[in-house]
Amino acid sequence: MNQSEYEELIHNVADFPKPGVVFKDMSPLLSEKLSEVVSDMGREINWNEIDLIVGIESRGFILGSAMAIKYGKGFLPMRKKGKLPPPVIGEEYELEYGTDKLEMRVNDKIKRVCLVDDVLATGGTLKAGLSLCEKNKFEVKAISVLIDLQFLNELAASDQRIHSVLQYK
Ligand code: AMP
Repeated sequence: MNQSEYEELIHNVADFPKPGVVFKDMSPLLSEKLSEVVSDMGREINWNEIDLIVGIESRGFILGSAMAIKYGKGFLPMRKKGKLPPPVIGEEYELEYGTDKLEMRVNDKIKRVCLVDDVLATGGTLKAGLSLCEKNKFEVKAISVLIDLQFLNELAASDQRIHSVLQYK
């Protein structure tokens, strides 16, 4: 799918969920083109070196599990605190006001993973997701996001593992 087809199906919602944020609503895109989205998100990844997909709550669950089916991999959710039963391992991260925490099931075997989320904005969530994977002894081989808001972060320039379908400069 080309950029203008994507842009037609991703709606920009001003001041949601709070003033100043332009929310990228991908519901129209997913309801019409999920299969193409998943192909585009996985195109540059070397799937031979990946055993498992880790999806970040909550749109990372939709995209990550669809990718897991397409590429024949397992799927593991990374959730907001208090949603998963023990044994879990967690990582706190800073928000604009206060902190939040991501959690995942404790890993029992070293695995090579691809980390998946929908939007890379300031990068705080992805950085926490990466350090949680490392803490849990996962080897993060690739990171796939649908949208990279590059005017808010510079992560892709320094981390070659990051793949995105759409970039906004
Ligand atoms: P950040 O930690 O700032 O990179 O934010 C990333 C997380 O917040 C992702 O899991 C997204 O689902 C969500 N997010 C941030 N900005 C947006 C946006 N403009 N539109 C949709 N989701 C967003």
